[in-house]
Amino acid sequence: MAQPLILITNDDGISSPGLSALASALEAVGEVWVYAPDREQSAVSHGISIHRPLRVQEVGERRFMVDGTPTDCVMLAVHELLEGRPDLVISGINNGANLGDDLTYSGTVAGAHEGMLLGIPSIAVSNISYQPEQMGTAARVAAKLAAHVLEEGLPDDTLLNVNVPDVPYEELKGAAITRMGQGTYDVEIVTRKDPRGVSYYWIGGTSPQDVARPGTDHEAVAQGRVSITPIHRDVTDDASISVWEQRRIEL
Ligand code: MN
Repeated sequence: MAQPLILITNDDGISSPGLSALASALEAVGEVWVYAPDREQSAVSHGISIHRPLRVQEVGERRFMVDGTPTDCVMLAVHELLEGRPDLVISGINNGANLGDDLTYSGTVAGAHEGMLLGIPSIAVSNISYQPEQMGTAARVAAKLAAHVLEEGLPDDTLLNVNVPDVPYEELKGAAITRMGQGTYDVEIVTRKDPRGVSYYWIGGTSPQDVARPGTDHEAVAQGRVSITPIHRDVTDDASISVWEQRRIEL
């Protein structure tokens, strides 16, 4: 049987150590093709570049960089550039956690989201440290999950969002199936003057104050476990539909 075709992207860019660790580990699972942004695209969410052309450059065997977003990469690869349809899309390994409310900002998760929209089983993988020292751990976890998903499949319209503690593999406290938590950043807007005296602004701040409620992704990684969150395409608030219906909004 032909090897499974695995498409890898990320949002930290083609030269990110997390990308190469992931690609190397996945070579044992299938035929790996990398389409990744030419520079960091963290927090670009699910953006696509529709107002300018996109350029693709081959940088190695089955390795390509794109001057676009993670979603651009997946779209170009699947719709145009790959010779076959991927059996799996994996996005990562991100430098830094993608937990709770991070998901809507994340370029890493968006890469997997696009794969899901295209009907391909998709996984986003993040190392929870912004200065990772144990990228091999997340790579091993990714390879295991990839093999599992290729064997067992994923439900339609679902992606897996995976966060891995930055510890040696043997020190992981197992895996937890989790819910998406909540955590807001303490945003700080830095205001300065440019050389011509015009104000500019830079969005900064500190990491979310972990609420770490039971069963969440925040809690799992705080306990040293791999967090695996199934994320559904449909984010409708089912519980409130009847409430809204009863309000009888008249137009
Ligand atoms: Mn990133």
